[in-house]
Amino acid sequence: MGIRYFVDKNYFPNYETYCPFGGAQALSSYFVNNTLTCSMTSLQIVMSLALIVLTLIISKLFCSYICPIGTVSEWLGKLGEKLSIRYTITGIADKVLRLLKYILLFITFYFTISSSELFCKKFDPYYASMTGFDSDVSIIMGIAAIVLVTIGSFYIRFFWCKYICPLGALSNIFRFFLMFIGAVGVYWAILSLGVHLSFVWLLIALCITAYILELLSINNRVFPLLKITRNIYTCTNCKLCTKNCPQAIDVASHKTVKHVDCNMCCDCVHVCPEKDTLAINHRGKKWLPAIILIILISIGFIIGKSFEVPTIAEYWGDAAAKGQMNIYEKSGLKNIKCYGSSISFANKMRRVKGVEGVTTYVGSHTVKIWFNPDIIDTLNIQKSIFVPAKVLIDKKISESDSLSVYNLKVDNFFDPYDTYYLTELLKHNQFIYGFTSEFGCPVNVTIYTSTDKSIDSKLVKNIIEQKQLNETNSNNSTNIIDLSYRVTKIEKLDKAISSSAFNEMMK
Ligand code: SF4
Ligand code: SF4
Repeated sequence: MGIRYFVDKNYFPNYETYCPFGGAQALSSYFVNNTLTCSMTSLQIVMSLALIVLTLIISKLFCSYICPIGTVSEWLGKLGEKLSIRYTITGIADKVLRLLKYILLFITFYFTISSSELFCKKFDPYYASMTGFDSDVSIIMGIAAIVLVTIGSFYIRFFWCKYICPLGALSNIFRFFLMFIGAVGVYWAILSLGVHLSFVWLLIALCITAYILELLSINNRVFPLLKITRNIYTCTNCKLCTKNCPQAIDVASHKTVKHVDCNMCCDCVHVCPEKDTLAINHRGKKWLPAIILIILISIGFIIGKSFEVPTIAEYWGDAAAKGQMNIYEKSGLKNIKCYGSSISFANKMRRVKGVEGVTTYVGSHTVKIWFNPDIIDTLNIQKSIFVPAKVLIDKKISESDSLSVYNLKVDNFFDPYDTYYLTELLKHNQFIYGFTSEFGCPVNVTIYTSTDKSIDSKLVKNIIEQKQLNETNSNNSTNIIDLSYRVTKIEKLDKAISSSAFNEMMK
């Protein structure tokens, strides 16, 4: 994303796009509330499923091969090691500190499910630093997290990963898979008996049990399916593997490494001087985890791009009659961009007679609207979606001025974002004073210009049909927005209007 940002001017990175932790939160919110959390798409959800499969088959491969925080933390740790100031916490302190990440996991999921907003964005050091403290980030929590990662990693071995990271805690829950299945099964059974039991209890049970299992170093015999194994007959007990294990696991004393901190980085296998002594399940090669990781991520990427999970799916009509309803589908609504905008769209549609339900997909900015064809038709549905606008472009206009009026039909123009983009396009031209838009197929746009002779229909059409818009955002970087407005008809009114009539109309 970082490289593409500098070589592709049309690209604005979305730092959440591939985040499996965001996907897992979105999935949990979906199960509990039947809504996706803000701005989450099927790609993040599939990535979270890939994370679970990877954890079950191999180990916490996201931690060892992908996590950007883990990578920076490891670099800082190596620097601390070189300066001989890095310390490995052991004993009681280690055991107590391990609880922190489960508490954070609980808090993150609790607030995400309760609010359908990704709570982790408030303190995620990756998101905070990559977005330059985006408005979703809590400044205090973001700075605290960055300081913790930086200083903690420098002085303490894997401080963030072992003690703070909620994704590490979540991965451990999946690592203790039979416990996870058991807890979810019991919860499901209680619900199916008709007893209302809040999701909070399941969350608490999962966090506490995983913490206890981690403390007791109780490892699932089955999962992960792949483990590091040591051939005790060819091992010379040189202990290089132990010295080089980033997680400080005493590999040389195990026949099979089942330690909860092992994330299958394979550093021990790489460093072992004795051929075929350390392996994966006795035979597996050291590159096996990386190959499986690439295959699974690629499959996840293809699947994630090929379907879309609805952000909200609300149906307020008679469920029994749903089969008889018609569906109107519209893509490219740029204001359908998150959970909040989806909810406000649904609330607006609730007020339209004959509309029975709404499903939104923020990834493709698409809405599906269930409607009763006996009450409303698609043209009126489109009309109810459309937001007419009057935009006065801030220019000095004298009382004695008169204005030329251009009536246009504009295709691919339908939501409030189009009003904003059109304003941006027009305000760079000193002769244009404002515009109005009204519903039509295509949309009716009226543009008011000065009567200067250099303005004509061709110029107005060219301005509107520009393919790109340079937009300067709050941190002074420029976004390039692709546009596809098409003027299908344009006519200039024979008579100019007075500035007072224009001002009156714009009120
Ligand atoms: S590095 Fe290889 S030979 Fe040395 S102790 Fe570890 S497993 Fe044995
Ligand atoms: S070095 Fe070996 S034992 Fe240590 S985390 Fe990596 S794979 Fe696991």
